[in-house]
Amino acid sequence: MPRDVFQAVIIGAGPAGLTAAYELSRHAAPVIVLEADPQYVGGISRTVNYKDFRFDIGGHRFFSKSREVEDLWTAICGPDMLERPRSSRIYYRGQFFTYPLRAFEALSKLGLIESARCMLSFAKARLNPTPNPQTFEDWVVNQFGERLFRIFFKTYTEKVWGMSCQEISADWAAQRIKGLSLGSALKHALLPQSKSKDRKTVVKTLIDTFRYPRLGPGMMWEAFAHRVDLQGGEVRLGGRVESCRFDRASNLWFVTTRDATGKTEEFCGRHVVSSMPIRELIANLEPRLSEEVVRAAQSLRYRDFLTVGLIVRDRDRFRDNWIYIHDPSVKVGRVQNYKSWSPEMVPDPAYASYGLEYFCFEGDGLWNTPDSGLLALARQEIQQLGLADQADIVDGCVIRQPKAYPVYDDTYQQNVAVIRAALERNFPTLHLVGRNGMHKYNNQDHAMMTAMLSARNILAGTRKYDVWAVNQDAEYHESGSAGDIPAAPQEKSTITPTAPAWSG
Ligand SMILES: Cc1cc2nc3c(=O)[nH]c(=O)nc-3n(C[C@H](O)[C@H](O)[C@H](O)COP(=O)(O)OP(=O)(O)OC[C@H]3O[C@@H](n4cnc5c(N)ncnc54)[C@H](O)[C@@H]3O)c2cc1C
Repeated sequence: MPRDVFQAVIIGAGPAGLTAAYELSRHAAPVIVLEADPQYVGGISRTVNYKDFRFDIGGHRFFSKSREVEDLWTAICGPDMLERPRSSRIYYRGQFFTYPLRAFEALSKLGLIESARCMLSFAKARLNPTPNPQTFEDWVVNQFGERLFRIFFKTYTEKVWGMSCQEISADWAAQRIKGLSLGSALKHALLPQSKSKDRKTVVKTLIDTFRYPRLGPGMMWEAFAHRVDLQGGEVRLGGRVESCRFDRASNLWFVTTRDATGKTEEFCGRHVVSSMPIRELIANLEPRLSEEVVRAAQSLRYRDFLTVGLIVRDRDRFRDNWIYIHDPSVKVGRVQNYKSWSPEMVPDPAYASYGLEYFCFEGDGLWNTPDSGLLALARQEIQQLGLADQADIVDGCVIRQPKAYPVYDDTYQQNVAVIRAALERNFPTLHLVGRNGMHKYNNQDHAMMTAMLSARNILAGTRKYDVWAVNQDAEYHESGSAGDIPAAPQEKSTITPTAPAWSG
């Protein structure tokens, strides 16, 4: 028998893993967090430091409908949390549109003829919708018409996912777009509204501020790791989990990591909480699950992401937090301006730092382009967009993020259902949490909530809460007020399919 038996061995020091460790160690349960990255905690929510310029993996807003999550952020990072104004625009055909869209601006920039075409095409879609839409394209066209779909959804969405909108599941649209998004904003901007029916929704959904740690999201996750340490837990960096073995005789888990030098280490626990991608977990799980389950896991797909960070002499060209680039003439999908997120993201106010976000697949042409080539591309594109002059760019870096997005294709739901059922049947002490850990489009707060509930299940010794019910509120991402939901979700027995515990 190994010397230490942890109550839980936790895989990954992203928001989910650290929250599980925080919650368990708060109740004096012995825990260890195993993180592959040798330098950073925070996972996709880390902040990368390049010569004291700080870069997010995409800007990370701190906004939750859960009062408990908001309060926890305050407790951990309170004095360092800023309340920031949100400002974002869309770049389309050489023009910038305020986002969420404003009626007069959108009309004048699209022009009367184009606006009239949009309305006709919207009317056509409403009169003759695709019944039971299965794809992103059909779902959006049904909601907004073909014309608006082409202008404001198609190019950006295909840049993000690297596949045709006909291949993307309607689920994603339903989760991201319902409530207020670009589409409904445009609809409200361009189309007459039935008296006050939608008024409350419109006002409620225009989120114009969010919270943000003054040194970026990594600051929050470093503070979490520190708290775990103070509570007696451990966060171990630099070892990638490469096997998870369950021993039926002892009911214990044996988790093995390997570091960059090839050294392996084994950790033993009563429970495993995993935020590593499901595909990798299943491939490394012993005893091996059936071929059907292994195949389902191998079929899960991911979209990868890289940010080219540019350091520029600040000429005050734009103050948005981010700009969506809907234009097909450049490869960049979104541009972040980190100084607008927090002035302390740059060490010297004479400079600004931009993040040019490129969506790609690990191993494709863009991903494999050497850093020098990516920096050259970003320099050329930022100038083409009119957001900086090449002469003002003084330095830069490239940050690659594999598996940034779990892909919602038309088989993912079935695959996840197969995997979930097999795991619950065979390994009741294995808990899937977080974003890639559950193959769900979870934001930080959802990732945290799945971890809090899993920790409570472990402490209770039974699966009291259904973690899969978190983030079923389709309106969540863009609507509602921070802290709308007062406390922890209800227990499993009270959850009904039509009113998930986590919905607002
Ligand atoms: C571009 C972009 C913008 C975003 N913007 C926002 C936003 O504005 N607001 C918001 O709330 N959320 C945002 N998110 C989502 C947010 O990043 C995630 O919800 C969150 O990081 C998920 O936390 P997690 O712990 O589940 O996973 P991750 O952050 O992926 O962390 C998982 C951790 O596990 C580690 N790991 C993986 N495999 C192994 C292994 N085999 N062994 C050991 N360790 C392993 C990884 O290194 C990582 O540290 C954004 C995401 C992206 C891609």
